[in-house]
Amino acid sequence: MSITTLPDDPQLRERFTELKPPLTPQAATIEANRCLYCFDAPCTVACPTHIDVPGFIKRIASGNLRGSAMRILDANILGGSCSRACPVDILCEGACVMHKQGRHPIRIGQLQRHAIDAFHDAGGDVQTAPRNSRHVCVACIGAGPASLACAAELCRQGAKATVVERRALPGGLNTYGVAEYKLRASESLREIEMIRRMGVEFRFGAGIETAEDLKELESEFDFIFLGLGLGAMQQLNIPGEESEGVMNALELIAGYKTGRIRELAGTVVVVGAGNTAIDAANAARRLGAETVYLLYRRGEREIPAFESEYEHSKVEGVQFLWHRQPMAIRADAHGVLLLDTVQVREVDKELVPIPDSKFTIACHLVVPAIGQSPITDLMRDFCRIDVRDGQIVTDRATGQTGNPRYFAGGDCMNGGREVVDAVADGKRSALAMLTIAEAMYA
Ligand SMILES: Cc1cc2nc3c(=O)[nH]c(=O)nc-3n(C[C@H](O)[C@H](O)[C@H](O)COP(=O)(O)OP(=O)(O)OC[C@H]3O[C@@H](n4cnc5c(N)ncnc54)[C@H](O)[C@@H]3O)c2cc1C
Repeated sequence: MSITTLPDDPQLRERFTELKPPLTPQAATIEANRCLYCFDAPCTVACPTHIDVPGFIKRIASGNLRGSAMRILDANILGGSCSRACPVDILCEGACVMHKQGRHPIRIGQLQRHAIDAFHDAGGDVQTAPRNSRHVCVACIGAGPASLACAAELCRQGAKATVVERRALPGGLNTYGVAEYKLRASESLREIEMIRRMGVEFRFGAGIETAEDLKELESEFDFIFLGLGLGAMQQLNIPGEESEGVMNALELIAGYKTGRIRELAGTVVVVGAGNTAIDAANAARRLGAETVYLLYRRGEREIPAFESEYEHSKVEGVQFLWHRQPMAIRADAHGVLLLDTVQVREVDKELVPIPDSKFTIACHLVVPAIGQSPITDLMRDFCRIDVRDGQIVTDRATGQTGNPRYFAGGDCMNGGREVVDAVADGKRSALAMLTIAEAMYA
């Protein structure tokens, strides 16, 4: 059964026009021919999945798009979503030697997308070893990039992998979180359909919530990979947070990406200044909110979002309120939502309110975006694995936890990074499991 897709939504497409449109074939060939094909390829080193960048670009230059795509997918099975979602300016393109010559770096992300899109458009399939030719079967909990990469690598090498996911659709944040103007949910699902054709099995609506659920998996599978991601957004812990008109950033983003939220109006206040806060603020603008404030308790210099994301949000029309903290949410006599805020300053590393600086913002929506909480309690208690500061502790080289049957990767292990890191983690664990299984059956 193929992966369910979301209906095409022309309004969503129009509102979330792509930040980086695809290259034309001619532009891709010209760009590919600019590459110096460095033998020590700092771009490849900078990529957590170590894609052979000169290798795939050379194939584009010679017109071998399928060969180029295969080169990418060999290293990174989610090469399509990474080509759109990766912060290339701090990864491969940031490492491009062209910078040293004062020239524009090679547009590696867009070239990667060019090759992979052509592959998908042609209904391309990745070659796998004969099914079940390796004596190992693995359950991957969560259908985000970490588990998908783990399961795909296992199937590519002839092992059996089953992904169990709580939600109705796979992809984790690739489908429900990454901004639509970078990566459309439909593109994430198309990529996962290719992974399904590789032989990965999926169980949806299958949350692993109890010790019983884990026991069942343990009896059915040799190894279990934890690709759980992070949990719900943290609360602001201020009075009135339960009011109607408060919706956290992940709910807002997943809502518009799946077509449940189609329009916003008036004033929206996003609280927080990380990449997720920026995504939510940009989304609110694109959904029609006239004024979008991003409220941050520290200053511009301390903003945790990537610089490119911050610069982009200014272009989207987001306005920033620095050194300001929310105090309470309430409604006036006419039902208008009011956010009470106060100016703060740092004294001995503590933020203290400045007297008489209270300021109330009348708004239509308040969007908390101050980070996600970890969701590893069940795993820690039942699986006897170490969890430190909410992150699952693993061996760096293999992703194996203290319990040899459990591996972990992606956000639940690294505390929240990028899609490409999760992919690297998942693949690494798959290779380690295959090596261990090989030794067991030798
Ligand atoms: C709003 C937002 C925007 C982002 N934008 C970018 C971007 O532009 N570029 C980029 O590179 N990175 C981005 N990231 C980060 C990136 O999305 C994550 O690093 C990546 O998705 C982590 O992958 P994962 O597989 O570890 O977790 P996730 O993608 O979170 O997937 C985890 C999956 O596990 C499921 N699950 C959890 N617990 C259970 C359970 N008990 N049983 C069954 N299923 C379970 C969840 O439902 C989910 O589907 C963004 C993150 C956010 C929050």
